Amino acid sequence: MTSQPLLEPLLEWYDRHARDLPWRDGSATPWAVMVSEFMLQQTPVARVLPVYLEWLERWPTPADLAAETSGEAVRAWGRLGYPRRAQRLHAAAGEIVAGHGGEVPASYQELRALPGVGDYTAAAIASFAFGQRHVVLDTNVRRVLARAGAGQELPRPSPTRAERELAEALLPLDGSTAAAWSVAAMELGALVCTSREPACHRCPVRDRCAWLAAGRPAYDGPAHRGQAWAGTDRQVRGRLMAVLREAEGPVHLSRLEAVWSDAAQRDRCLSSLLADGLVVRTGERTYALD
Ligand code: SF4
Repeated sequence: MTSQPLLEPLLEWYDRHARDLPWRDGSATPWAVMVSEFMLQQTPVARVLPVYLEWLERWPTPADLAAETSGEAVRAWGRLGYPRRAQRLHAAAGEIVAGHGGEVPASYQELRALPGVGDYTAAAIASFAFGQRHVVLDTNVRRVLARAGAGQELPRPSPTRAERELAEALLPLDGSTAAAWSVAAMELGALVCTSREPACHRCPVRDRCAWLAAGRPAYDGPAHRGQAWAGTDRQVRGRLMAVLREAEGPVHLSRLEAVWSDAAQRDRCLSSLLADGLVVRTGERTYALD
């Protein structure tokens, strides 16, 4: 299968239906794209948007962010979750200033060497900020390729070699078309080919989709890990961080104790925040963002 059967209808659909998002605007700088990619790693667009706009207003360049403390970056991260991303983005801004003259580097290898930038993020920044040809496999793209290209309801929990080969085979050769293809597949997965209820009747590639043609067979591969939240350490860490973020200064331990009744779990989570460098101890029983 080549990219051609899916490419044109998908790009046409994208032109007409894509959401108007600031990081896709032609005027978005590589730094703006990078900030958006960090924020979107594990957080939906609707929650990212207001925080993204505030960040870019406040720190329009890597140098602006690097001049702040890491704690201020974590505070401004608000409730996006996984606050180590803020810490790493702050560290990456520092390295961009120190090693790249304050400009986000364009090469995949240099991007990949920055704190917090994994394979997906490096490929996404190189594609969307610099129009290069890279396979960009986020969860939405993976689902669209699994269905339309491989005839399976869902991809495997982790990318397989066969999946990467399919993604590579479908990727247009030209860099800017490849970037357009990736963002369009991403958008189709977010808006139409959703995980639970794919709207095949309004899909631009429905007459070329292998999964639809096969009668939408149920997924029978290895189980996907659920995104449990209630009662997890992630929830507890989030509660502790919210108290620290909203405080003007150091917070007494008693205020942290009030947000979670299981003392063992709360202590474990507070220790992990200290170990991650997100929180510092400022007195015998007081804490603050780093
Ligand atoms: S036809 Fe349905 S399953 Fe196939 S890509 Fe479109 S929305 Fe997804």
